[in-house]
Amino acid sequence: MLNNLPVKRLTFKDLTIEGYSRAAVQSYWRIPELKLGFDLGGQPWSFMGTPNWFVSHTHLDHIAALPVYVARRRMMKMEPPNIYIPEHALAMTKRILHSFSQLDRGRLPCELIGIAPGQEIELSRELVVTVNATKHTVPSLGFVVWARRRKLKAEYQRFSGDKIRDLRLGGTEVTEEHRHPRLAYLGDSAPEGLDQCPAMYEAEVLITELTFVAPGHRKEKIHKLGHIHLDDLLARRERFKNELIIASHFSTRYHERQLRGIVEKALPDMLDQRLHLWL
Ligand SMILES: [Zn+2]
Ligand SMILES: [Zn+2]
Repeated sequence: MLNNLPVKRLTFKDLTIEGYSRAAVQSYWRIPELKLGFDLGGQPWSFMGTPNWFVSHTHLDHIAALPVYVARRRMMKMEPPNIYIPEHALAMTKRILHSFSQLDRGRLPCELIGIAPGQEIELSRELVVTVNATKHTVPSLGFVVWARRRKLKAEYQRFSGDKIRDLRLGGTEVTEEHRHPRLAYLGDSAPEGLDQCPAMYEAEVLITELTFVAPGHRKEKIHKLGHIHLDDLLARRERFKNELIIASHFSTRYHERQLRGIVEKALPDMLDQRLHLWL
């Protein structure tokens, strides 16, 4: 396999989480089983087959690989991908792709779709992505991936199969939609991005940014920059219901050992061993 960019991997139940993320360097994630990815700060060659991408915001370390990704899919004769981006950026991004297309003298076929907080994207019958507002220095979005299925309504659960069939044939809606948050992606955000979207705390897997960890950093300044400090996680430890919490997007000022040391000192139980540092 061609190895052009770093990728870390973690398996959780039926999902593989792959990616890499350091502040101001590059962020990219994907879950191949869900056929979707988050952010295009880089595009590992192995990610090309994933057809749906959600861009959290337009800082270059989260979007710079967009033209490269689209061009590779075309070159490899894959279907044009679906790329969801904050709606304010839609026209500008189209212009950039158009310019690159002229410079490269090659088409860049893709569906670019502008999205806003409150929207829902149906990826399939079983999979829905919701969009929520986060708080950063440019307009930014977080995403929750929901598993969706239809369940028999509570009032019909004791009915026989024949009775239910009759009701159904008579036009009664006997099922209702049931949703379960499987995975949430915060992107870059101050803690409000988590607090304003309860599903972030409830999803089986949460991928959160944790740009700053060292004691002594001024929190007000970090929040103004639209980022999270380790103290913010500590203050919210009772709220995390997630089975797995992936912390990522660390500032480049920290080395791996130093970072682990600081986090393990502040959180010796690593949030009941649910906290995973993406290093
Ligand atoms: Zn970033
Ligand atoms: Zn950013």
